[in-house]
Amino acid sequence: MTTIDRIEITHHRLPLAPPFYAAWDGQARHHFDATIVRVFDTDGRLGIGSGDFMLGFEGHEDLFVGCDPLDLDRHNRVLSNIDFHYGRCWPLDIALWDLAGQIKQEPVWRMLGGTNPEVPVYASSGALHEPEELADLAESFLALGFPAMKIRFRSRESGGWRADIKGLEHVRARVGDSLTLMVDCNQGWQMPWDTDPSWTFDEALPVAQELERLGVFWMEEPLDRADLDGHRRLRDATSVKIAGGEMTRELSSLQTMVDGGAFDIVQPDAALVGGITGLAKFGRGLRETNTIFTPHTWTNGLGVVANFHLMAGLGGAPFVEYPYDPPTWGLDRRDYMLSDPVMQTGGVATLSEKAGLGISLDEERLAATRLD
Ligand SMILES: [Mg+2]
Repeated sequence: MTTIDRIEITHHRLPLAPPFYAAWDGQARHHFDATIVRVFDTDGRLGIGSGDFMLGFEGHEDLFVGCDPLDLDRHNRVLSNIDFHYGRCWPLDIALWDLAGQIKQEPVWRMLGGTNPEVPVYASSGALHEPEELADLAESFLALGFPAMKIRFRSRESGGWRADIKGLEHVRARVGDSLTLMVDCNQGWQMPWDTDPSWTFDEALPVAQELERLGVFWMEEPLDRADLDGHRRLRDATSVKIAGGEMTRELSSLQTMVDGGAFDIVQPDAALVGGITGLAKFGRGLRETNTIFTPHTWTNGLGVVANFHLMAGLGGAPFVEYPYDPPTWGLDRRDYMLSDPVMQTGGVATLSEKAGLGISLDEERLAATRLD
């Protein structure tokens, strides 16, 4: 029987010039860091994962080495223990699925029960744009065949959302109803240096009413991630669907929010919460409910493709997030660790029939960007 031989973790930094201004950050990003996880079995196969920084993982390799790589539930429990004490080390779960696929000679999406490798995707912008520029971006997404686009609101400037409504109006005027629109308010969590409080229900309600007027499909993260009562009241007060939960660490906390009626759309990311193993169970548990699961994917190309496999396996999502905001967030940046970027055509990303995740690393690029 093959066993896990070793786990290697490397850190990489891609300089960004010009910088990327992520709407949720508040600081310009002059570089984009990626941590790559490589898990080898004793037969020389390699599984890869990425998406978070594996903080605190070092020293825990022995908890996996020598084990059956296919014992994914067991490995997930260990990762859950590590997650409780340290960082989000779920990229190892992704790497183990890639390895498992190679052992079984099956793509991950099919191992998860999927029958169709085509994943419908929506264009997820990341930067703040002036109204005309935002309308240009929407038009370009429409021309590429995306069925939907997600727009960012200035989350924490006082009253900033009123200016963002103008941007949304420009987009609607330009593309009419031919593009489904979503708005991410980015109130669910903050960066460490951002100490402003999230919106309250009273602050989120007038935003929701404007989004309703403009026919927005979902309003994402309108409130703090733990504000169950506020989410429930907001859902009652508007016809706009309420989305959230992308970074909630514990799936049990997220389940409590879902069971309590917080969300129409729930968005945990396999690279950040629970891995593919945890989210496959979580997603299956939602099948008999009205809650739609469509994950956050805003990590890097490897995280994107892991979530695409998960969703092709589970089904049920109207579309999945495709982070894309050229030129400052194009595929050259998002997918720099991959030998081929994760493409979409006409709003559909088609996964490979190759074993595992069906992707390979750009080792030359990774050597050139290596930090340690
Ligand atoms: Mg979001």
